[in-house]
Amino acid sequence: MLTLPTYDDVIAAAARLQGHAHRTPVLRSATADARWGAQFFFKCENFQRMGAFKFRGAFNALARFDDAQRRAGAIAFSSGNHAQAVALAARLIGMPALIVMPTDAPAAKLAATRGYGAEVVLYDRFTEDREALTRRLALERGMTLIPPYDHPDVIAGQGTAAKELIEEAGPLDALYVCLGGGGLTGGSALSARALAPACRIYGVEPEAGNDGQQSLRAGRIVHIETPRTIADGAQTQHLGDYTFGIIRRDVDDILTVGDAQLVEGMRFFAERMKMVVEPTGCLAFAAACAAGDAVKGRRVGVIVSGGNVDLVRYAALLAGD
Ligand SMILES: *Cc1c(COP(=O)(O)O)cnc(C)c1O
Repeated sequence: MLTLPTYDDVIAAAARLQGHAHRTPVLRSATADARWGAQFFFKCENFQRMGAFKFRGAFNALARFDDAQRRAGAIAFSSGNHAQAVALAARLIGMPALIVMPTDAPAAKLAATRGYGAEVVLYDRFTEDREALTRRLALERGMTLIPPYDHPDVIAGQGTAAKELIEEAGPLDALYVCLGGGGLTGGSALSARALAPACRIYGVEPEAGNDGQQSLRAGRIVHIETPRTIADGAQTQHLGDYTFGIIRRDVDDILTVGDAQLVEGMRFFAERMKMVVEPTGCLAFAAACAAGDAVKGRRVGVIVSGGNVDLVRYAALLAGD
């Protein structure tokens, strides 16, 4: 039996993050409110350290290491924001970090991860099993593996964003959260259920990768092929045991949006709110915009999950190439 993390774990995570993570702003947009007839509260994790909420979960997990774990350090496999989050958290706490990344990871991501002081080990996506490689390295070096979402400390850390949002905005009628493996959605649900019991909670994933939605309907974790979508932070193939446990209990529904809606969201954030938001970071807002009566007259929280996007790609997406 799994012991799921609770809101008390989110409170403990918030204390650990105090002074290390940014308390990101909750922004409003009169234009958005008028256009969709809602009161929106945007929790802007694109302004979080390293550019995404993932810093919260990684720092919380690493901060709980004992002395022996700290000496050996943390290991993770990721080509995205989790890699940079673990690298930065390890540097701040003062421990080694090793990140396993694919040989074809974007050069900017490799450079950013190394820039935070992490050692990077490359693997061939087509011939090597990254989980086996990571487990072998972890064993050889005595390092502690921190997965990107299915870990109680990671989930509790991610939950601190929604905690801050609701504490600042007051009770919400609805909360929309970007969903990949479910760490952010699971953590947000812990906070929302505790602080705003009547709030409806929605996870939002890409249409092409609706494994979460399928899982919720089937009552078991459904696995899919890596989906083709511009939402690269949500190209997960399945939820985790912890995240699914929370989601099936606390989340009202899982919604999906198409890539064109994500581009519309990126455009809105750029034009109206002067923010660079990565495609995955637009999932929640895109679903709220399409929700019609479900948001009309309501107080709606939207978690903007990150802003890490290569600028050439960003420009091409906005231009509609
Ligand atoms: C990782 C990530 C997500 C998905 O988070 P999960 O915890 O895997 O559901 C969403 N947005 C951004 C920007 C991310 O980096």
